[in-house]
Amino acid sequence: MSAGSALITGVTGQDGSYLAELLLEKGYEVHGVVRRSSTENFERIQHLGDSITLHQADLLDQISLVSLMQEVQPAEVYNLAAQSFVPTSWVQPTLTGEFTALGVTRMLEALRTVVPEARFYQASSSEMYGKVLETPQNEATPFYPRSPYGVAKVYGHFITVNYRESYDLFAVSGILFNHESPRRGREFVTRKISEHVARIKLGLADELLLGNMDSKRDWGYAPEYVEAMWQMLQQDHAADYVIGTGEHHTPQEFVDIAFAHVELDPADFVRIDPAFLRPAEVDTLLADPTKAREELGWSTRTPFAELVQVMVESDLEAQEKLSGRRRGGDGAR
Ligand code: GDP
Repeated sequence: MSAGSALITGVTGQDGSYLAELLLEKGYEVHGVVRRSSTENFERIQHLGDSITLHQADLLDQISLVSLMQEVQPAEVYNLAAQSFVPTSWVQPTLTGEFTALGVTRMLEALRTVVPEARFYQASSSEMYGKVLETPQNEATPFYPRSPYGVAKVYGHFITVNYRESYDLFAVSGILFNHESPRRGREFVTRKISEHVARIKLGLADELLLGNMDSKRDWGYAPEYVEAMWQMLQQDHAADYVIGTGEHHTPQEFVDIAFAHVELDPADFVRIDPAFLRPAEVDTLLADPTKAREELGWSTRTPFAELVQVMVESDLEAQEKLSGRRRGGDGAR
């Protein structure tokens, strides 16, 4: 029996692809939104084939979202699409605001007018805490964003809360701390490290250039985080939740574990390049996921070191396939 239709924006991304898999397993009819582009990037959802239905629409185009809701008639809507890379948000601050902030209002307007009974999930972010006002951060911690991305996410969070209160929608905001996986975008520090370590091990690269090695992030494993999104929409009442591990680590620790896994010394390969420093940094993030544990029964299962190893192993396999080289083979270290 079908669990109903679910609509995912950002379905081609890390979280969108894991969420699509989870919802298919649960018996949903899954619909994904893609933007038209001359260079399509469906790498993460290719394996799903025809089991999901893709629709063209754009968070910048109100009418396209209204038509989408009319066509799909979703029971659940997951708004995961955004310009989500912090450094890019300084280079394209207005565009970031259009997608990441106003895009949420456009989604909510489309939902409210076409399918007001549908349940809505907004992908909020720990970047909203920015220059943190208390540690650890919970649902009541005030926001102090430190990038145009963080500012836009604060807007997305509050417009979701506002539509819940103004129109009595079942709309929730999941405040997710950093979550990683082999499907993480290559520009984020974790994936950048795992991919470079794999290439260095196979003799395909000689150095890894990084920025701030001392910031602290609460890094979890992404497939577990999409379970929390779904759980939030199955509750009796709409509410916002912090999702994270309750532990934090530095890029330096990620580097150390990743290089140790391939038995190399990071000092031989890692260089600091000021180009990767940011105009304003978020120095420390640490989740207090007590509410999610108590109300959703959700908690993380993958320890930090295991997350690092899973990502390095996955990139080693991918790079071996691409290059034809083997660990311990010719040209490898
Ligand atoms: P963010 O928390 O959403 O900004 O996730 P990122 O993975 O992009 O960055 C996490 C932390 O790693 C930030 O404090 C960055 O300043 C730091 N970092 C250090 N070197 C790099 C780098 O080369 N690339 C990225 N993306 N981040 C870096």
